[in-house]
Amino acid sequence: MTAPDSAAQTSAAQPSAVQTPAAQTSAAQGQQDAEEKTTVVIDAEELAALEERNRGCTACKLRPGCTQVVVSDGNSQARVLIVGEGPGADEDRVGRPFVGRGGQLLDRILDSVQLGRGDVYVTNIVKCRPPANRNPEADETVTCTALWLEPQLALLRPEIILTLGNTPTQYLLSTKQGITKLRGVWHPYRQQGGLWEALLMPMFHPAYLLRNESRAVGGPKSLTWRDVREVRRVLDGGVPEGMSDPLRPPEGQGTLF
Ligand code: SF4
Repeated sequence: MTAPDSAAQTSAAQPSAVQTPAAQTSAAQGQQDAEEKTTVVIDAEELAALEERNRGCTACKLRPGCTQVVVSDGNSQARVLIVGEGPGADEDRVGRPFVGRGGQLLDRILDSVQLGRGDVYVTNIVKCRPPANRNPEADETVTCTALWLEPQLALLRPEIILTLGNTPTQYLLSTKQGITKLRGVWHPYRQQGGLWEALLMPMFHPAYLLRNESRAVGGPKSLTWRDVREVRRVLDGGVPEGMSDPLRPPEGQGTLF
């Protein structure tokens, strides 16, 4: 799904002022597809039952070390689903994902393209806090995703999945490549034998951005701003052509968080 070079001209950072008839047709089709996908009916009762069972889970070695299971936040009807790595200390205490400093930065990232918590559904690859905020281990990820994330995705069927950081990106794309190489480009995510497919955009984790605060053009924050603007463009009906050069910084950084 990586774009040819010419497609980069229609990215969020470089919107094309004049579209060819073919591009107009594609954009119109994209808008129509987007509208059709917003009509997906979520089985709210089934989702609520799944989340309730999730809150009682003790299936892996993470549960004894945490305060509570942190399942989700946001809107189950949203077109965008965000997957982080795992709850931190603040999330473990409050019981909602992304409520600490990283969560506040995530809110600013979303706000930079006019998205709020009501426009997304947020969860993590593991629902219990790993000790000392270490990365989830393979057995924990396999157990938790099989029991909870995969059924969540099957019920929610989001149009767009944003994976934050290495752990969710590598798991959902079945790759060992790092986030630096994978971010900024659309990837297909398929489930149920290919019956359902979403667009997946890997992005830097907000915790990484907190450790790399530079607002320099081409830095991690600048690139994340580029990525989230591409997400906005596709949500607005743009064709998800990807970005041929995900390292190329945008011109200007008007709403950089
Ligand atoms: S991390 Fe997931 S599998 Fe492990 S106990 Fe928590 S909810 Fe269950």
